[in-house]
Amino acid sequence: MYRRTFLKRISIGVVLSCYGSFVTVGNLFAKVSDQIKVWSAVKGSYIIVNKANKSEQEWREALTPETFHVTRKHGTEHAFTGEYDKNYEAGVYQCICCGQDLFHSDHKFDSGTGWSSYYQPIAIENIGLTKDRSWLTVRNEVHCSRCKGHLGHVFEDGPKPTGLRYCINSVSLKFVKA
Ligand SMILES: [Zn+2]
Repeated sequence: MYRRTFLKRISIGVVLSCYGSFVTVGNLFAKVSDQIKVWSAVKGSYIIVNKANKSEQEWREALTPETFHVTRKHGTEHAFTGEYDKNYEAGVYQCICCGQDLFHSDHKFDSGTGWSSYYQPIAIENIGLTKDRSWLTVRNEVHCSRCKGHLGHVFEDGPKPTGLRYCINSVSLKFVKA
């Protein structure tokens, strides 16, 4: 009886210490994954930034209702209504939610679709892609890599040199003149 209790205690000890290791390793990964390397237009180099993690309520309070709907609820602004659809001034388009650089005016083109369009992001690290299976089709959803804010979609009918069309909601962006 004594031996069984002893073994039981040892087993619990091993399980707890393994669990502790997992928690430690998990925390390490959490710390690493909280930081990302992204391109900074101002610095002209890559920088390390913390991810922008906010609760839904915090985003709701920080953004206008339309911006919240598009960026946090995967909404879409009406075609030809976006502030930047026909903007061709030189500058950088940042994420309206977290201020991360996303697109550059050098890569903007008139797609005629009614949404601001770019053939590439300012750097591939600054955006993320996920499969969007709504609308009875599969599209590549584009979001900010820092705050996960929804930006739009990317299609394979863009101009050279990439052949891609990043179709982006203006309300997800903030334009900063060069
Ligand atoms: Zn962002």
